[in-house]
Amino acid sequence: MTLRRRLGVAIAALLVIMALAFGGVFFTQRGYQLSQLDDRLSGLSANTKALVAISTRADAGTGAAADLLTDVYVGVHRANGTLRTVLAPDADPTLVPRLLGNERDAGAVTRTTSSGDTERVRLVEAFLGGQRYAVVALSMSGVEAQSRRLAIALLLAWLVVAAVAVLTAYWIDRLGLRPIAALTAAAEHVTATGGRAAVQVESANPATEAGRLGTAFNTMVATTAAGQEQLRRFVADASHELRTPLTTLRGYSSLYAQGGLATDDQVADAMGRINAEAARMSRIVDDLLDLTALGDRAALDLATVDLATVLDDLAADLRVRNPDRAVTVQHSGRTLVVADSDRIRQALTALVANAVKYSAAGTPIELVAEQRGGVVGARVVDHGHGIPASELPRVFDRFYRVAGAGPKGSGLGLAVVAAIVSAHNGRYGVESEPAQGSVFWIELAAAPVSG
Ligand code: ADP
Repeated sequence: MTLRRRLGVAIAALLVIMALAFGGVFFTQRGYQLSQLDDRLSGLSANTKALVAISTRADAGTGAAADLLTDVYVGVHRANGTLRTVLAPDADPTLVPRLLGNERDAGAVTRTTSSGDTERVRLVEAFLGGQRYAVVALSMSGVEAQSRRLAIALLLAWLVVAAVAVLTAYWIDRLGLRPIAALTAAAEHVTATGGRAAVQVESANPATEAGRLGTAFNTMVATTAAGQEQLRRFVADASHELRTPLTTLRGYSSLYAQGGLATDDQVADAMGRINAEAARMSRIVDDLLDLTALGDRAALDLATVDLATVLDDLAADLRVRNPDRAVTVQHSGRTLVVADSDRIRQALTALVANAVKYSAAGTPIELVAEQRGGVVGARVVDHGHGIPASELPRVFDRFYRVAGAGPKGSGLGLAVVAAIVSAHNGRYGVESEPAQGSVFWIELAAAPVSG
């Protein structure tokens, strides 16, 4: 059974139970009032003779007894079956109860009236001696007016509770159930489309559980859709990147098959190109594997690493391979971080390689390691081509290359740097000025000072 149906059934059951309870209250109260009326009636009928005597005296309308009998009807049976009224209630002097038969042994009974304003009376017949019977009656108007008032009060109370219950049900339905139904439909649609549809549900009140669920659902669907799109682009870019060297390899192999490589020099040249393309493919595959491993937050082999030492090592390598470059290293402060030494070396090596790749031979390269507060930063500064401001936000994207930037690359180097630094919960960035040079930087939390 749905939640909505259960709510409806619960409210209907509540209203029925309340109606039954109110009915019980009504009939109990009415029964109590009638029994009080009957008690008085039986008290009066036990003294019928005295009643008739008081009522028929000349001064019947006076005295203490008469004061107590202002609402009592007393009549005496005539031989013809009609009643001779000997005492009538003050409030309804023309009252005469209708007699339907022999009620002598029946105790108090309810009868309508044949005259007067009163509609119904409770009456008993009492033996006066000889063949004579008297009728004693009390008006039910008071009991009926009280019953009517009680019925109206109970009905009003029931209506108020019913209205509150219906409004509450509507409110729960609007705030809780309807958004959940919409969410279910949206989730089913997403499932039916194999997760491709980026359906968003209408935002319900965020202060409610359903609202929060809707927001979480929307975020999840958007994240999944973005992830799928990213994956699709990634696969397309990776295939495209790998196709270029593959095409070259196939070109040389078919050239060779057709006898196009006639001389030793041509074969050697083709082999060199094949090697270079194969190496490029290897690098791309390595980078892709790195990105996958780091994307999964593969366990890092953490240890205390001194970024200054890493930069010193990189500078030494750089000087050996590029003797024409002026390479300087500056350190300041305590430059220890807790990191995976190999990964951090890999990231800084990629930045230094880019600095060499994208700056003219002979231009200086500066490496800086410094501590600022709780972080340690490393910077690689070159004086090369620089990067236009419009390209800066995308250079860390996978496969992104600045158009006409020079030496061929895969566009994965900086993406790997970004993944490594992110895996360490660090920050990275670039400042650059076209034709002036670039500063690529990373920042990691400083290693805690022990002892
Ligand atoms: P790749 O170098 O293989 O093209 P990267 O991800 O390492 O890929 O770099 C992305 C792009 O960022 C490069 O194509 C280049 O245009 C730009 N870039 C990276 N480093 C520098 C730098 N030091 N100076 C100028 N441009 C750079």
